[in-house]
Amino acid sequence: MELSDTDLAHARRCIELAREALEDGDEPFGSVLVDSAGAVRFEDRNRVGGGDHTRHPEFEIARWAATHLSRPERERATVYTSGEHCPMCSAAHAWVGLGRIVFIASSAQLTEWRSGWGAPASPVAPLPVQSVAPGTPVEGPVPELHEAVRELHRRHVEVSNR
Ligand code: ZN
Repeated sequence: MELSDTDLAHARRCIELAREALEDGDEPFGSVLVDSAGAVRFEDRNRVGGGDHTRHPEFEIARWAATHLSRPERERATVYTSGEHCPMCSAAHAWVGLGRIVFIASSAQLTEWRSGWGAPASPVAPLPVQSVAPGTPVEGPVPELHEAVRELHRRHVEVSNR
């Protein structure tokens, strides 16, 4: 898979947002919505620390896009994310008709890392985006950025186990 330097820059921004989430007591995930002209239109990071475990950035992006972008704009937009969309977010992405997804670490990879560190299993199956949203173009993983994402998740599990 060939990603452009622009793609990589947006992917790196997702890691910064994930780091911000971790430092704020949330789970280390960050996502960015970029339109067809290359402009960042919206970005967010995980906010589940308050107890609402649906507060995923990809879900916020889908809702924001449904309100602020036309259908054609959504189709041509790209969502970058540090970790592959979960089934809830994949469904939201598809329901609002968003376009391409670029993820750094796959759900399968995250699950493998987390189980290796003794973290409890997720209550939601780690299905690939395309099992939930078969019409969505997906690119990922991005192995050259794995180490940064892995380290944030390792720290998160460490903090959660305290
Ligand atoms: Zn999600």
